[in-house]
Amino acid sequence: MNRRYRKTIIAGNWKMNMTATEARGLFDELKPMISKAKWCEVVLCVPFVDIPLMRRLLKDSRVTVGAQNMHHEPSGAYTGEVSAAMLKDLGVKYVILGHSERRAYCGETDSLVNKKVLLALQTGLRPIVCVGESLEQREKNLTLDYVALQVKSALAGVPVEKLRQIVFAYEPIWAIGTGRTATAEQAAEVNTAIRTIIRKMYGARAARSITIQYGGSMNAKNAEELLAQFDVDGGLIGGAALKASEFAAIIQAANQ
Ligand code: PEP
Repeated sequence: MNRRYRKTIIAGNWKMNMTATEARGLFDELKPMISKAKWCEVVLCVPFVDIPLMRRLLKDSRVTVGAQNMHHEPSGAYTGEVSAAMLKDLGVKYVILGHSERRAYCGETDSLVNKKVLLALQTGLRPIVCVGESLEQREKNLTLDYVALQVKSALAGVPVEKLRQIVFAYEPIWAIGTGRTATAEQAAEVNTAIRTIIRKMYGARAARSITIQYGGSMNAKNAEELLAQFDVDGGLIGGAALKASEFAAIIQAANQ
């Protein structure tokens, strides 16, 4: 973390978990634990149908609500989809884009992710752009090349004045939901490489102010070491965000 130049952001990704009833229960548990989040921003990226409820419940807190996806077109005949404008209208601040599960199960490509990034920025939403390599790519020593491609592609057409709205999340696919976390050194290496790419594209000032998270089996035990890395500015947290005490412990690690 480097609090001088950029925000530390702890974001929970509930994925397809939590009915509205369950969400209320988790909120009741979390509420007394998260009020002390001073130094970091906390975001809950919840299923679309939980957004109105969570916005209401979190109205007087410092915790903001995010979504997990949006469509790449502004509106139109796309049955079952949700637009950026709809999210904005509900008071959503962040939207996860290009999560590896969407890339794998919904065929999302780098160019589609780029379209979504541009539309999110235009609509006033802050994209949390996920990038990360497969185990095979890591074993073939392709991690940095692959992540560089994803980052450059996501940023195509993004002007420097909008760059600060973007958050990157380095999420090695082999670490997501597996309990196998990247070491602090591995996370730091890739996060630093991402910042270097951004420096080359946009200059040093822009690069130092962008938040780059780590995600992939982050939990109460490993959060402190991961967040101690200079270029790891927070976490995108799946499984551990569904347990109040685990999530609160990660926030606490970010608050130190
Ligand atoms: C994620 O879904 O973005 C994630 C990091 O999941 P988990 O923390 O469960 O690995």
